[in-house]
Amino acid sequence: MIERRATIPFSEARQLITEHVERLQPVSAALFLARGMVLAESIYAPFPSPYFRRSGYDGFAICAEDDHDFPITLQVVAEVPCGATYNKRLNPGETVRIMTGAKVPEGASKIIMLEQSQVVEKPEEIRLINSQPHSNITEIGTEFQTGDLLLEKGHQLNAGSLSLLASFGVTEVKVWPKPKVAILSTGSELVAAGDTLPDGKIYNSNEPLLVSLAEDYGAEVVYHEALSDDYEATRARLEEIAGEVDLILTTGGVSVGDFDFMAEIAKREAKLLFNKIQMRPGSPTTAMLFEGTLLLALSGNPGACFTGFHLFAEPALRKFSGKPSSILEVKGIMAQDYLKNNGYDRFLRGKAYFSNGEYQVEPVGSDMSSSLGNLPFADCLIMIPRGKVGKAKGEEVRVWLLSSKS
Ligand code: AMP
Ligand code: MG
Repeated sequence: MIERRATIPFSEARQLITEHVERLQPVSAALFLARGMVLAESIYAPFPSPYFRRSGYDGFAICAEDDHDFPITLQVVAEVPCGATYNKRLNPGETVRIMTGAKVPEGASKIIMLEQSQVVEKPEEIRLINSQPHSNITEIGTEFQTGDLLLEKGHQLNAGSLSLLASFGVTEVKVWPKPKVAILSTGSELVAAGDTLPDGKIYNSNEPLLVSLAEDYGAEVVYHEALSDDYEATRARLEEIAGEVDLILTTGGVSVGDFDFMAEIAKREAKLLFNKIQMRPGSPTTAMLFEGTLLLALSGNPGACFTGFHLFAEPALRKFSGKPSSILEVKGIMAQDYLKNNGYDRFLRGKAYFSNGEYQVEPVGSDMSSSLGNLPFADCLIMIPRGKVGKAKGEEVRVWLLSSKS
């Protein structure tokens, strides 16, 4: 007899998943490896920036006493390239030739730009034609004083953050780590790319899909493997893996057929959270706690697997590592009709473009859960709520803008 499962709306399924995710403990990470991670502590300036008076231009440093009655001729006492210093005090009548970013000598009050200089006969002298109102000197602490906040706890590190911290010599940061994820494709029909394809079998396309998506959305994929439809072998492998990862993602085996062992495992070996969602594709998507580890069992159908990852796995990954969502939910306007009726909410793989102040959206490729020709091109999910009429061109819909396009 075919079992009847209790169904829940997709929003409830998302909530049940995130309720079972606890933020990971912060770790120390090398700055260079911490991009994309979230700071677990605020970082303050350990010294002022700049910490010495810096020249803003290539030119000549002069004393306040000489800063009048141009043109003037001064004695060039040194040349200070970037990274070098002139360790004496500059006296009236003297100048140093200085480069952008170099340390301005004590006693100097202004940099006259190179363009305002003229070579004279004596090589140790320079003629300066005119002054300018600005000093052209960046004073100590212009941008940051010691103790100023650089980055706040909760900030997600990007290229600019690494650069700011590197400018203060920071090499390690305290961050919430990437969640460790295991990806298991189940199905005796699966063959790895590169192997010959016997009749009736298919290449495993969910594995590269989920490995890439998980990495794009900030996970560390520690296992990715394929299992055949074998209850005992699947259970045994899950037992080995469960304690080692924060999240297990599986595909396949969640329907009600004879070989749908993930569905069986959810009922017999785990704490079931749900096993039927009022949505298409992916209504049999299942979530459970297997020996305390969150296990999200996605449908094997590629379209459902893609949709399920974005709706259910991404919020879990984000919560583990304390990240704000990188999948933005927006209002969209249908750019074409989608008039199928449906007993469940439907998520279409779509394309979104911003035009006249709103997101225009349209389905891309087929809406079949088994189709995957549109996966390379879908940049949003469009929700068509359950009902008899679908959504006509011009109607408003809920849209999730996907961000895994690297
Ligand atoms: P299942 O969820 O196991 O019933 O699988 C649903 C459909 O998805 C079946 O047609 C499977 O052959 C297919 N499928 C399952 N796993 C994969 C996979 N890893 N890659 C591509 N297709 C798959
Ligand atoms: Mg299967």
